[in-house]
Amino acid sequence: MTTMLLSAVIAFAAGPIRADGTHTFDGKHDISTIDLTVVYLVPKDRKALGDWKQRVDYYTKRIAAFHTRESGGKSTLEIHTHPEPLIADRTADALRGNDANETFFNSTNTARKALKWPGDTRRKGFPIILVLSEINWRELDDFTRTRLIDGKPTFEGNVSGEGRHFPGAESGGARAYYDARQRMGVGLVSADGWRVPYSGSDCVIYHEGVGHAIGLPHPEPGDDSVMCFAQYNYWINQTWVTASQKKVLGWGDGKERVPPDPTDLFSGFTALQDPIVPKAKEPVSLKFTWPGDARVRSMKIRVQTDLLGEWKTIANDASGPAPAKLPLGSFDTATPVSYRVDVALQDGQTVELWGYFQVKESR
Ligand SMILES: [Zn+2]
Repeated sequence: MTTMLLSAVIAFAAGPIRADGTHTFDGKHDISTIDLTVVYLVPKDRKALGDWKQRVDYYTKRIAAFHTRESGGKSTLEIHTHPEPLIADRTADALRGNDANETFFNSTNTARKALKWPGDTRRKGFPIILVLSEINWRELDDFTRTRLIDGKPTFEGNVSGEGRHFPGAESGGARAYYDARQRMGVGLVSADGWRVPYSGSDCVIYHEGVGHAIGLPHPEPGDDSVMCFAQYNYWINQTWVTASQKKVLGWGDGKERVPPDPTDLFSGFTALQDPIVPKAKEPVSLKFTWPGDARVRSMKIRVQTDLLGEWKTIANDASGPAPAKLPLGSFDTATPVSYRVDVALQDGQTVELWGYFQVKESR
């Protein structure tokens, strides 16, 4: 897993439960409200993404909806996104230091100092700071998913057997810790975990920015939950918090997981390119899954073929019964493609979903 716990500060044992109601995994601190500060950290020799706020707002909406659903409303995620990119007083090289651990502490300490975080925590919810970094611990182009090795672009990234892109790269370095003594959680998601919207990037944000930060370990045995392999298989709406972990957090009775409400748009909606690995000039569609009886009021579909470029709107006339698929058009040459879909249903539900694929040269 790209994600990793700093072992020195994990409390694995459930131990005596001191907080009533919902609490951190070790039972020590109340989490009925979690005060999550999110900040976009940019080294002084790099440029912030123009649309960074839309990306961050997308992820924070996704993890808040997931948290409410999985905690059954017992825990509230109050998210405060720092309104501007935080330009570090150091270069990318200086922030990186010698390894991924140094990158983690240099990045999170820079953000904590600049934001004077956590400040006075006496009356606030359980404090977590999540740093979304502009860089990885070593150079990686996360849009093409290539790294220069001896001057040659070399692929680095997680791709499933059928060709879907998921987060995960050796050059990444996302991680987080929970500190019981100081009552706080600290997380870092490196560039490869969030800048480009692979399916599962939203899982990484929750895994580090909430899960490990409230003390959750990786479940044993392994499963497809958000604290395990979800990021390699799903968007976050398709995964869950393992029932045994929910029980420890005070979110459930530990029995098997309850399937989500079949009419819930957040839980039921996905949008996946078809074919999974399109060729240049080949028509591409988005194929959807919907909650039962969904009737569409409007859909807005946008694509981007340059991480720093414009989002182009693809017109559609979807309205009424939910469509099984909609055309995206075709792409003249091999290119990475990010896409985003905004849906509004006639019953008032809305959802936003982002994804990514690569168009290959036709042969
Ligand atoms: Zn992890």
